[in-house]
Amino acid sequence: MSEMKTVSATESLLPTYARYPIALVKGEGSWLWDDKGNKYLDFMSGIAVTNLGHAPQRVKEALVQQLDQLWHVSNLFQIPNQAEAAKLLTDNSCGDAVFFCNSGAEANEAAIKLARRYHQLVKGNGRYEIITFHQSFHGRTLATLTATGQAKVKEGFAPLPEGFTHLPLHDFAALEAAVSDKTAAIMMELVQGEGGVNPVDPAYVQQVKALCERNGILLIIDEIQTGMGRTGKLFAHEHYGIEPDIFTLAKGLGSGFPVGAMVAKEELREAFSAGSHGSTFGGTPISTAVVKATVETIVGEGLSQRAAEQGEYLVSQLREKLADAPFVQEVRGLGLLVGIQCAGPVAGLLTEAQKRGLLVISAGPEVVRLLPNLLVTREEIDVAVAILEELLKASN
Ligand SMILES: *Cc1c(COP(=O)(O)O)cnc(C)c1O
Repeated sequence: MSEMKTVSATESLLPTYARYPIALVKGEGSWLWDDKGNKYLDFMSGIAVTNLGHAPQRVKEALVQQLDQLWHVSNLFQIPNQAEAAKLLTDNSCGDAVFFCNSGAEANEAAIKLARRYHQLVKGNGRYEIITFHQSFHGRTLATLTATGQAKVKEGFAPLPEGFTHLPLHDFAALEAAVSDKTAAIMMELVQGEGGVNPVDPAYVQQVKALCERNGILLIIDEIQTGMGRTGKLFAHEHYGIEPDIFTLAKGLGSGFPVGAMVAKEELREAFSAGSHGSTFGGTPISTAVVKATVETIVGEGLSQRAAEQGEYLVSQLREKLADAPFVQEVRGLGLLVGIQCAGPVAGLLTEAQKRGLLVISAGPEVVRLLPNLLVTREEIDVAVAILEELLKASN
């Protein structure tokens, strides 16, 4: 490079994100500050990532302690933190064995691979097909964007991997008709996050689970957004009285440190024999120190229950204050994963909220999504609801 290039940092990045002109530089609890000193109440949590708020003390201490001790070793060695983090996840769920990776997409990719390998090598039945649902979101790798039930993430990426079928949610007859002796797994979110905050009907989920059991099909629950206390239980499937064969985690699992995990039932263990799958960074001493501290905090401090209570308060306040706002059609959600269904686009509303010091996100074009951290206070909820009330009542 002989000549100095004079481009801004933004021009040196590929334009994959439509970014707001705000640079957040500091975070504490529910609050963020930008580089100009403006303060924001954070009801996005980095899209359901900072479930314990920004810079949670106990996680920070675990991270700093681990940074002093050891950063990285290969998975060719024993990694005590990784085994202990896995045990915390299995002790607190219906799962029996964990694979750690670095993101949600990778966790789902692992789930798809495990399902296929289980059928093809353990069962010897050659099954490969994965059924998913319209409006679902499962990630951005080639397999997981193929699994995703939204056309916009697939545009321009053909040819896509084979073996994925998409069905309308809540149409059990269509699902029954679609399963065959090629069906390896059904994969679903229990509250569709990116797709519009759509909670799935419990009776339908029970039917899906029963169908899976009858036909030897694995049930994969994508808990990447719904997990880690977000919906008022540690994992959303606990609300539904079902045990998935596989569930996937990321987002809130590391309180902001990048980490993902796939949790599987015992019978799937042998399908991921040594050498069958792997990840250089999956479950490093640092990331799993953070997972341990995060899970211990959520479980030890009863934060799932807290999310249920604060979520109930948030939804009841929104329903009460927005009852006579014609732009608002419905307030729905589970725990602290809440959506406000509007009668038109909400993009302008999000930037207006930013100007009033509140960060919220959309879920599709017409839903405002609220994802405060699990420690959010009633006072903070009141502040957010007041801003939303003002904006939504002025919208049409
Ligand atoms: C965010 C998300 C993913 C993808 O996670 P990444 O870490 O961005 O790869 C997958 N599934 C669901 C339900 C998500 O919300």
